[in-house]
Amino acid sequence: MTAQITTVSAYAAPSAKAPLERTTIPRRPVGEFDVLIDIKFAGICHSDIHQARDGWGEGIFPMVPGHEIAGIVTEVGPGVTKFAVGDRAGVGCMVDSCRECDNCKAGLEQYCAKGNVGTYNALDKNGEPTYGGYSTHIVVDENYTVGIPEGLALDEAAPLLCAGITTYSPLKHWNAGPGKKVAVLGMGGLGHMGVKIAHALGAEVTVLSQSLRKREDGLKLGADHYYTTSDPKTFEELAGTFDIILSTVSAPLDFGAFLSLLKTDGALVNVGAPEEPISLNLFSVIAGRKSLSGSGIGGIQETQEMLDFCAEHGLGAEIELIEASQINEAYERVLASDVRYRFVIDTATI
Ligand code: NAP
Ligand code: ZN
Ligand code: ZN
Repeated sequence: MTAQITTVSAYAAPSAKAPLERTTIPRRPVGEFDVLIDIKFAGICHSDIHQARDGWGEGIFPMVPGHEIAGIVTEVGPGVTKFAVGDRAGVGCMVDSCRECDNCKAGLEQYCAKGNVGTYNALDKNGEPTYGGYSTHIVVDENYTVGIPEGLALDEAAPLLCAGITTYSPLKHWNAGPGKKVAVLGMGGLGHMGVKIAHALGAEVTVLSQSLRKREDGLKLGADHYYTTSDPKTFEELAGTFDIILSTVSAPLDFGAFLSLLKTDGALVNVGAPEEPISLNLFSVIAGRKSLSGSGIGGIQETQEMLDFCAEHGLGAEIELIEASQINEAYERVLASDVRYRFVIDTATI
């Protein structure tokens, strides 16, 4: 692949809202600091669905989603120092950033002042569209590639590249740990990793889900308590309880009701990215000096730290491995909150 652009197989949405289908896409030649990754597994994040269906605004089509990528390095550029052929490697939501702004220098590339380059649905620095992980190979700068520790199975590691880091980063930032009561709102792809990670950090964990259907799983994954938000009594019983509520919900919610579940000085941290705005009565943050904040994925170094943490604690994702031909069906199940708890594509079937 070194000398010229190569064509590889992929699954793409040809236009907004169209079903995904098999196609081919170009991958750039392996540059001085690039690694070529033979993709083995790619997770399906709800963000893939938002974007493939133009829920966040106008996307770039054809779109090859996928930003939970796990594979094996099969070629390295001459300047590469961190990876060798045969290494287990992962790529998450970004493949580049300006590298010069204060955030990039501080390891917060996800908040790059000039905007990071998304793994897909973005334009690379050379002006070409980026294509994501629902494909057989990807070429990425080594500085935006992370190593997957031996202790993690590659298929269970793939979802950590987005679902893992998106929950790990805020849980660490808001100091989830012993003595802290953490609620995880929504038990899907992000939520189930939030439960595992918050538990491993030593916090007392409560799941707030639309129903009790996944209760047994939640308790098994590390939750201490499990409540349904469809029962108004939940809001009475849990009023003023939590230090941190991590919302992973993909749809707009009544955040006012959830802010009432925080202690004084508690924080509701939102990572869900619904397509519509919410409205909020601001008295719900005034009373009790509460914070409503957000968080986006994590930096590259922090992503490596998260993978090492997950390997140390044996925290892979709970996955349903699917063939590429099942992607559209999997999307419908994610939309119906019927995911247990991350669909992962076996890219050998692309
Ligand atoms: P997911 O697997 O679909 O999980 C979302 C969960 O939210 C569902 O399983 C469901 O849990 C709950 N939910 C869904 N619709 C709901 C509704 N109408 N009311 C109440 N609860 C509802 O999605 P995901 O992949 O975890 O992603 C979640 C959200 O985070 C998406 O919007 C995604 O785009 C966003 N995201 C953000 C970042 C970031 O950097 N901030 C990164 C990745 C993803 P229950 O069945 O338990 O209620
Ligand atoms: Zn994602
Ligand atoms: Zn930057």
